[in-house]
Amino acid sequence: MKNKLFFLLLLLLLGFIALKYGNTIYIFFESDEPSQSIGTTANGSLINGKRLPTRGENFICYSYLGALLGRNSIHHKVRDTVIQTYGRLAKEYPDTTFVYGETGWPGGGSFRPHRTHQNGLSVDFMVPVVNTKGQSVPLPGSVFNKFGYGIEFDHQGVYREYRIDFEAMAAHIDTLINTAQKNGLRISRIIFAPDLQEHLFDTKAGKLIYGRVPFSKNPSWVRHDDHYHIDFEIM
Ligand SMILES: [Zn+2]
Repeated sequence: MKNKLFFLLLLLLLGFIALKYGNTIYIFFESDEPSQSIGTTANGSLINGKRLPTRGENFICYSYLGALLGRNSIHHKVRDTVIQTYGRLAKEYPDTTFVYGETGWPGGGSFRPHRTHQNGLSVDFMVPVVNTKGQSVPLPGSVFNKFGYGIEFDHQGVYREYRIDFEAMAAHIDTLINTAQKNGLRISRIIFAPDLQEHLFDTKAGKLIYGRVPFSKNPSWVRHDDHYHIDFEIM
């Protein structure tokens, strides 16, 4: 009986370590070979995909399990762009916490339930939110709300005690546009709920991004209110 309890505790401990540090360990053993995107976002694959870090100074993954499984893998140029963008925002918006969502498999290919995300050039970002005190908090994600993807915001960008921080979101996109360019990339498309876009463009940083990148005009197959999907293109 004592032995069984010991092994159960050991298993729980190992599971916890794998969940918390598995992604970081995988990154440690990743090859330095450059990534190669094959085909399109809807029908393609990825060679030498790289995982995003589990967390950083001002950002965190949408799910430790998703990161452990490698559902946060992308082309190295996109990875660099995402990390450098967070680095710049840490200086300009030190109190804002960002959450990234799903990106793709290390080898690309079919990535259910997403229709694209196949060649390492698509990234989902969860919307930055503030609570009723106006403090930036990570969008709550768990198995009960599909890791944040099951959340429904109203037309004002409010869900329970959370409000979308449109200013921070616009600043994030603006910085991504500029950083992508430095890494030889271009943003080819952003999918975000059309009914929420006016709130985004209404902000200070929103004026800087309006017209610079193509936004989705029509509602997509699933409402993109809890996250914005960004496709990159290699220049
Ligand atoms: Zn997506």
